[in-house]
Amino acid sequence: LLTMHSFSPMKMSPPPYAKTPSVYDPVRACFVILVRNSELEGIRSTILQIEQTFNSKFHYPYVFLNDDYFTDEFIERTKILTTSPVSYGKLDSQMWGYPSFINTTYAAEQREDMASKGVPYGSSESYRHMCRFQSGFFFRHRLLDDYDYYWRLEPDVGFHCDIDYDVFRFMRDNDKKYGFTMTFTEYMDTVPTLWNTVKEFKSRYPEVVKNWPSKKDSLEQFVTSDDGETYNSCHFWSNFEIAALDLWRSNDYLKLFNYLDRSGGFFYERWGDAPVHSIAAAMMLRKDQFHFFNDIGYTHTGYTHCPVDPSFRDKCNCNPETNFDYDPGLSCYPVYKRVIQS
Ligand code: GDP
Ligand code: MN
Repeated sequence: LLTMHSFSPMKMSPPPYAKTPSVYDPVRACFVILVRNSELEGIRSTILQIEQTFNSKFHYPYVFLNDDYFTDEFIERTKILTTSPVSYGKLDSQMWGYPSFINTTYAAEQREDMASKGVPYGSSESYRHMCRFQSGFFFRHRLLDDYDYYWRLEPDVGFHCDIDYDVFRFMRDNDKKYGFTMTFTEYMDTVPTLWNTVKEFKSRYPEVVKNWPSKKDSLEQFVTSDDGETYNSCHFWSNFEIAALDLWRSNDYLKLFNYLDRSGGFFYERWGDAPVHSIAAAMMLRKDQFHFFNDIGYTHTGYTHCPVDPSFRDKCNCNPETNFDYDPGLSCYPVYKRVIQS
């Protein structure tokens, strides 16, 4: 399943007469959107905003993915919103379906149990397929083969600030691998055994845990507050991600994903892709490879990151009083800031 990159003319070195190397050295990046046909209006709203604030200047392509076939109407009414290339793909049963080692009867019992406890999406089967897909598969869909970076978009989100530089080029030039705007605490009922499964994995495959010159170079303390004993529930909100695909395509991450997948927690519990991505990235990246996109105002399900810094505010149409960064009990941004500055 590992993606082999096919030859791409974009990788050729610039001709000697090239005045601006950047023209010949584009970043291979795209928007990736998992979405249902029924969410057409919501995704149109998102695309209109991302075009207005960013992509009408940079023309990055869009990749739409779905567990079902996209309708003609969906395709027509989304491609009309951009001059960028668009592509539409359907997921196969390996990327969206039960692996053979899952006991689907037990999974159904667990869903009922979680629903009765009031766990959000506790009863939803499709939500679990979605989280497993976002955790382990989107980056190896063939429509993403030509790309090195992605920006994840969802229906009905808001973008509030003008972004007048190329965020993908920023990521590449600064060796950033994972960019976010919001951090959150997780409902621990959705991930009761996730941390212990990760711990088991780490003791089995100790080479996967990066031994940076100093513990201070790692972001591990963002996800644990007791030196690795337990998960503190902090994660980056993955409905917004600007990240490098090679992070997830690495053997280390694929080994971790397979191990988690085998344990069954995507179906027997309700592991979100956000805690999975965050715990993995904290294990595998140096802390200076993370980037907080403070300048990108963003809203998802009523929660907003709105820049308060005067240098960013002038380009935004959100109210800084709505900014979620320091929301007590819900935001993990203070934890992130402390770890980054330590
Ligand atoms: P939440 O953000 O955790 O509340 O979950 P969402 O309902 O927003 O789902 C996350 C992303 O996955 C969104 O982009 C949805 O459009 C997409 N998604 C969720 N469930 C499905 C599904 O069953 N099929 C498809 N094609 N997309 C889905
Ligand atoms: Mn969402």
